[in-house]
Amino acid sequence: MNTAKSLVLFSGGQDSTTCLAWALSRYHRVETIGFDYGQRHAIELSCRQTILTSIRQRFPQWGERLGDDHLINLQTLGQISDTALTRERAIAYSQHGLPNTFVPGRNILFLSFAAALAYRRGIDRLVAGMCQTDSSGYPDCRDDAIKALQVALNCGMASRFCIETPLMWLNKGDIWHLAQSLGGVDFLDLVRHETHTCYLGERREQHDWGWGCGTCPSCRLRADGYAAFLASP
Ligand code: ZN
Repeated sequence: MNTAKSLVLFSGGQDSTTCLAWALSRYHRVETIGFDYGQRHAIELSCRQTILTSIRQRFPQWGERLGDDHLINLQTLGQISDTALTRERAIAYSQHGLPNTFVPGRNILFLSFAAALAYRRGIDRLVAGMCQTDSSGYPDCRDDAIKALQVALNCGMASRFCIETPLMWLNKGDIWHLAQSLGGVDFLDLVRHETHTCYLGERREQHDWGWGCGTCPSCRLRADGYAAFLASP
């Protein structure tokens, strides 16, 4: 067991919940941080507490390592963003190929706030679910962007943070496999039934891969990944 402490960027979605299990399998102390930035799918935020409670109840070996949860108010980001995640508008693609679900600067802000909190709490490992493979082309999910940010944070805070991104080179099918390898079928079920991914915040219909509208880009990625996972046990 690694004696370092870690802080997981935890949104209540599939990826960050898998990252949380990854950290709980490695570190003796794990704290979580989430951000309320006026996202349309605020349902994610309510999933966070359900998931944390479930982990404590159903995975006691993880629960005893799970520390404080921090929810940060970043409504300012919603005010300055004009995207399909923060406004009632249809999901579309811009001329240069980025979907309008891209919130410029989001991951840079999230990791900066996480580092500021971690600094105060004596934590030097930041764990985040960015993924270059299935990132919808979001530039701030790319490995180079995260590594550059790690350097900038360490230079700017005279610190030695390590930003760990266990999903960076996985596809969505691999991420389901990772969840199962970390916590078995019980954890796979938790991810399927308690995490939220749908961009539209839809939770009326439950599929074998979880809740969602089934048609937005985020649901498609999740559903296709689950199908790929089932096809390659
Ligand atoms: Zn959806």
